[in-house]
Amino acid sequence: MTEGLAAEVKRYREKDGLDVRSISKLMDISMQDVTKIINSDVYKEVRTGSGDRARAGARHLSSRKNLIPVEKIIDTPPMELELGKRGKYWVHELYCGDSECSCESVRLLFLKHGEKTPVFDGYLNVNDFEFASESLHSIGEDAQAVIKEFFKDLSDSRKRVMLARFKLAKGTEEDPSEYIDFSSLRFGRCLPYKDVFRVETPEVFKVEHKGRGFVIHDQYCFNPACHCNSAILCVFESGTSEDLVEQMFAIRVGLDGGYEIKARECEENTVINFFDDVIKNNKELFTVLRERYGKMKDLGREVQKQRMEINGN
Ligand SMILES: [Zn+2]
Ligand SMILES: [Zn+2]
Repeated sequence: MTEGLAAEVKRYREKDGLDVRSISKLMDISMQDVTKIINSDVYKEVRTGSGDRARAGARHLSSRKNLIPVEKIIDTPPMELELGKRGKYWVHELYCGDSECSCESVRLLFLKHGEKTPVFDGYLNVNDFEFASESLHSIGEDAQAVIKEFFKDLSDSRKRVMLARFKLAKGTEEDPSEYIDFSSLRFGRCLPYKDVFRVETPEVFKVEHKGRGFVIHDQYCFNPACHCNSAILCVFESGTSEDLVEQMFAIRVGLDGGYEIKARECEENTVINFFDDVIKNNKELFTVLRERYGKMKDLGREVQKQRMEINGN
């Protein structure tokens, strides 16, 4: 019997509080074997320590808090896999939403098509795309065989998507220069934040006014030489399925107060009421706007730097 095995049983028993029967199911070993492990000397000696480097990949083994299903992060159907003769599987992805946490993996739960309990479960490292071996569990299926099939299907683009989702969940953003052609940007125009930084709309931009739901999209001037200190907010009524209906109005909001109407498809009074009710004293919203304004100006500086390099100055 290995220390790893003993440590795993210990974690389940002492940290997760599971009984012998559940441990036996999860680890796919008999109840007698679980009991044997618990009564062994190795078990008594082994520690479940979570600090060591090898376990960083599966940091959430003993504590699953902060793990969020991918559908909470972006609107996406579960990943579908065709595992050879095994047939169709769904893969549920669970990402860590704690930006302070040093974990580097996504928890993947494999479900056989049409079934509700996972047959296989493990933590996949998003840097090297290996499963943390101590994290693998299978119930009624041979883990190594499933993994082998899974890796056959794991394309580079799927890896990129998972890495991007991992960053999204943690709130760490990607570098826009990786996917935006800076030479195409013109300083005279305002850029929608969501087109530049591919992050989900923050909750603070989903607001309610007079019993109806609205979504705010924000745009900024990214000319570093301009000190406009404002954001353009485009307000949409949200539809039943979170889809945006038509833009209702757009206003330029001063980050230190005041606003002007840029466009509207509604009564002027509606804009005034909306601003007073939802925007005016919304400190959390203004915090995000200021932070994003700063980021857009940083982007402008980066664009300028690149242009100077290209022009050889
Ligand atoms: Zn984590
Ligand atoms: Zn400006």
